[in-house]
Amino acid sequence: MIDFAHRVELVRREMEHSGVDCLLVSVGADLPYLTGYEAMPLERLTMLVLPMEGTPSLVVPRLEAPRVPPGPFEVREWGETDDPIGLVVAAAARPAVAAIGDQTWALFLLRLLARMTETTFVSASTLITELRIRKEPAEIAMLRAAGAAADRVSVRIPRELRFEGRSEREIARDVATMIREEGHHTVSFAIVASGPNGASPHHEPGDRICVRGDAVVVDFGGRMDGYCSDTTRTFVVGSPDPDLVRVHAVVEEAQLAGRETASAGVRAEQVDKAAREVIERAGYGDYFVHRVGHGIGLETHEPPYLVAGNEQELEPGMAFSIEPGIYLPGRFGVRIEDICVIEPGGNAVCLNDSPRQLVAVE
Ligand code: ZN
Ligand code: ZN
Ligand code: ZN
Repeated sequence: MIDFAHRVELVRREMEHSGVDCLLVSVGADLPYLTGYEAMPLERLTMLVLPMEGTPSLVVPRLEAPRVPPGPFEVREWGETDDPIGLVVAAAARPAVAAIGDQTWALFLLRLLARMTETTFVSASTLITELRIRKEPAEIAMLRAAGAAADRVSVRIPRELRFEGRSEREIARDVATMIREEGHHTVSFAIVASGPNGASPHHEPGDRICVRGDAVVVDFGGRMDGYCSDTTRTFVVGSPDPDLVRVHAVVEEAQLAGRETASAGVRAEQVDKAAREVIERAGYGDYFVHRVGHGIGLETHEPPYLVAGNEQELEPGMAFSIEPGIYLPGRFGVRIEDICVIEPGGNAVCLNDSPRQLVAVE
């Protein structure tokens, strides 16, 4: 069970440190993190107004109110002809400094700025990131369940799906079905990038038909109880040519180097460096075009980012991907991705453990 009242207490402590009098959170993952309620990103305003003292208010459109679970806040419904900005302004009670959620629509912030002329607005991201970046045991359990479900999909893909003669789009649809069948509540994405399309890391599956010899990057994720999975395996249709075997072996080694480096006290950038060095040494440094990983939780991509320049030390409770890749334009791509978490003792464990080697598909 998630203790939302405790989270409100913790975020107030962060507000106090940062000199923030009132926190305003609209759509995005911070709202369900603090309240258990996920608002639809609508033109109708939903906003949690969390002052330092007193009961927070959740300003919510009347038609959405039935979806709001009970929590440590008072629900303030507004009807179609009411003024929701006025409700927020009243509940906020003239703060000197208000922190506003990063994903709040600009439209609403502009209206608040016009009405709260005495207030200085700052970004809420640092306050809530401080909490969200270290997962509670219940959150780790949900990430673990999502990771296990994703692994079952990875294992089923070569057993059940035909690649040769079928389009990326058809295969992606099958992968999405499996993501749901294995227990995810929603599908976040299913990338199927075959042959030369694999050289584009976030390729949108299209009409290209898979042929023998193709490398196929399959990167997919979904959400289970709000928490995300995200894993990548690279398959080969039939048997691989020697270049693909070589490149895949380099990525496997790089990914292992990343996993072996990640532990408490290690800087996020060191994990990137460990994986990157393997790829550079093999002569493919110019073809590893992205950071090695990103945090994951209520969002697929969230802090910490494992990237050169990020000196933040990894700590118990942090969960993140390790996903090096090599992308050869016009030819093929290879990526291997697992979600890892730093355990209380300081070691990293992988929440994904399906075979990482180059697996042949029909
Ligand atoms: Zn990605
Ligand atoms: Zn991914
Ligand atoms: Zn990822």
